[in-house]
Amino acid sequence: MSKQIFERPTITKLSPGVPSKHGVGSVIAPMPMIDGVKVDDLIDAYGSPLYVFSERTIRRTMEDIKRAFSVRYPKVQMAWSYKTNYLDSICQIFHQEGSWAEVVSGFEYDKAIRNGVKGENIIFNGPAKSSEELEKAARNGSFIHIDHFDELFMLSDICHKKNLEARVAIRVNMDVGVYPKWDRFGLNYENGEAWDALNRIMLNPKLKLVGLHTHIGTYMMSTDAYRIAASKLAELASEVAKKFDHYISYIDMGGGFASKNTLRGAYLSGEDTTPSFDEYAEAITSAIIDSQIKPDKLPTIILETGRALIDNAGSIVGSVLANKRLSDGRRATIVDVGVNLLFTAFWYDHKIHPVSNHSGLVEETTIYGPLCMNIDVLRPSLMFPALKRGDRFVITRTGAYNNTQWLQFITTRPNVVLIDMSREVHLIRKAETLENIVENELTPEYLSKKK
Ligand SMILES: *Cc1c(COP(=O)(O)O)cnc(C)c1O
Repeated sequence: MSKQIFERPTITKLSPGVPSKHGVGSVIAPMPMIDGVKVDDLIDAYGSPLYVFSERTIRRTMEDIKRAFSVRYPKVQMAWSYKTNYLDSICQIFHQEGSWAEVVSGFEYDKAIRNGVKGENIIFNGPAKSSEELEKAARNGSFIHIDHFDELFMLSDICHKKNLEARVAIRVNMDVGVYPKWDRFGLNYENGEAWDALNRIMLNPKLKLVGLHTHIGTYMMSTDAYRIAASKLAELASEVAKKFDHYISYIDMGGGFASKNTLRGAYLSGEDTTPSFDEYAEAITSAIIDSQIKPDKLPTIILETGRALIDNAGSIVGSVLANKRLSDGRRATIVDVGVNLLFTAFWYDHKIHPVSNHSGLVEETTIYGPLCMNIDVLRPSLMFPALKRGDRFVITRTGAYNNTQWLQFITTRPNVVLIDMSREVHLIRKAETLENIVENELTPEYLSKKK
């Protein structure tokens, strides 16, 4: 047995069960393994820091959401939100589970095609589609979700000039009782723009209206907002049916379901406060079933859920670099994971678990990343055990947005691994090198040191 290392004693008032300014005290459990694989082995083999994804958690979560909706409604289709995580291996798991692709740029569109997704199974969203991208999507039979009138006219123009037909839906924004309103994307319901666009599409022989789309926000805690949104889209669908005798084939409810992460500063944990898939499903399906849409014309419900499907499946493992005392005596712990790798630290209080057992004594601590930059704070204040240089930890629920919004800032990005269903570990994105970063740079002759 090795010699115990001295740990500075601290005095902390314990008030079991009573919420303090830090919330209800929670035990910080050690986390030696992810999906049955030792974190120490992962770091020894792939370095620190390291992104780790669990295929098992992704597939289980997909099963959960599919069950919640399909027990309540006959036709449901998932579409994977590429911007939430577009690592190829992650997308392919979702495609194997039956998801189409939901993309918001020409880059993401091409990535989905490269992943083998058929054009007719791609939903093309976003406010900035170019005319080349619109033409490609129309030729491929993709679903083009129109964001504004300029796009509607541009697409109509392309289709007339090139003699193409496009499958279209409109994105609708509306008052769902959540403020500030998300009205910058799509056409507004209340001011009549959405209805106007639908009429123009119905009168245009080159545009085939196939659906209605909304995406009411992200990390939406209110299931009632979804109920309101679904009933407004159902209302539009029945108006179109009444006036044109035309039946749309889908209502796309977008994404936005909350993951179990806790928002920064929230008093209660996200685990206790976010609605379940069943609650979201109940709100959406009942609004559509109870609408004026005829039972034999019920549209497919499409879901573009991102965050709630992948957040729990991703972790970042890392190591402590140093500890110090701040001027007010508080402890600061510096770790090798910065906000460049954990962009979501800006709005979540991410949970951090030591890999090994600890004394159980916790102290108010600020956790800083390794960047030489004042904004690099993972947790401004939390009750945390004393970890020493070299000690390892796991940050959980990091799977959404961090591998797309990560920053190549100050340093390069580390390896990403996937633990498969039989606990095999696969490297799915190699750590970047200096070469990767400079390969697109060009230096004019007169500035080049290579003479
Ligand atoms: C970002 C986005 C999604 C996914 O949102 P989540 O909050 O991650 O579920 C779905 N649809 C559209 C149009 C989006 O922009």
